[in-house]
Amino acid sequence: MPSTPEATCSPANNGVPLTVSNLRTYFFTSRGTVKAVDDVSFHLKKGECLCLVGESGCGKTVTALSLLRLFDSPPGAIVSGQACFHGEDLLRLPEEELRRIRGNKISMIFQDPQSSLNPVLRVGYQIEELIKVHRPVSDAEARARAVELMKAVGIPDAEKRSTDYPHQFSGGMKQRVMIAMALSCDPEILVADEPTTALDATIKANIIKIFKGLKESKNMSILFITHDFGVVAQIADRVTVMYAGKVAEAGTAEDIFYAPKHPYTVALINCLPDMSGGQGKLANIPGSPPSLVNPPSGCHFHPRCPKVMMDICPRVDPYETRISGEHVVFCHLYP
Ligand code: SF4
Repeated sequence: MPSTPEATCSPANNGVPLTVSNLRTYFFTSRGTVKAVDDVSFHLKKGECLCLVGESGCGKTVTALSLLRLFDSPPGAIVSGQACFHGEDLLRLPEEELRRIRGNKISMIFQDPQSSLNPVLRVGYQIEELIKVHRPVSDAEARARAVELMKAVGIPDAEKRSTDYPHQFSGGMKQRVMIAMALSCDPEILVADEPTTALDATIKANIIKIFKGLKESKNMSILFITHDFGVVAQIADRVTVMYAGKVAEAGTAEDIFYAPKHPYTVALINCLPDMSGGQGKLANIPGSPPSLVNPPSGCHFHPRCPKVMMDICPRVDPYETRISGEHVVFCHLYP
């Protein structure tokens, strides 16, 4: 739990169910302090999809896990920040109260459905159990709801398949089961951590379609974590780009795709394959993401940045500059 007192959450949310401010989640290890999430702020509006994007190890997943306090503590700890959900700070709620929200009002889908499902229990039973944890329903009602959810996420012959075990499902179908589980209590917010990464292109397209349908039909808010800008282009309303535990740039999907400002965002977009039939080489970003124990000084991106200004970038942490509306960037190119 955060060690320093923060301002209380405002109950008035104006259509913004979740507001995260200055979140810092560190891991205190024998090799040093890993600043996995370092002063990250964002908000999630009703019925929108916010994509958190960045290379592996940039802090996206730890940001999501921090909201529901789903990491090992120790060594991890939320050292400061606030995550206001309808006037309550998720980072400070007693464990008992947070358990009422987890899987109920805020659900999470993980990258690897294989390790998230219990291999020795029938999938229908696993969904039913989750429903019964949060709702006062009979076994028969829970069973009917589980089948209904399996149908809703496009599992054919759902009644019969609900009696199958996880190993009898393909990767894409297992991911659908995970989505059905996450939807079992009609959550207001769905946090999806790289839910399409392990899937092939066709299945990926189907899963994205399910997420879009949920947003539109249930007005659900989705926090979608991915490193894949191709997926972001298909699903995002707004985008927050992260690098080395910090926000680099944030804005609407149009801002990020049509007017990216941060050299890292520009580099990520340049890495997208050219679908116009060009024969050019695929671009890459030279170097690799830094260690979060000893990240580079100043702007953490400076050793890889093609626009680095040596008089300021390695020395001074970039501050937030508002470009327009919701478009903000953390880069010394924009004073
Ligand atoms: Fe590049 Fe400097 Fe901007 Fe960092 S602050 S992204 S190093 S120009």
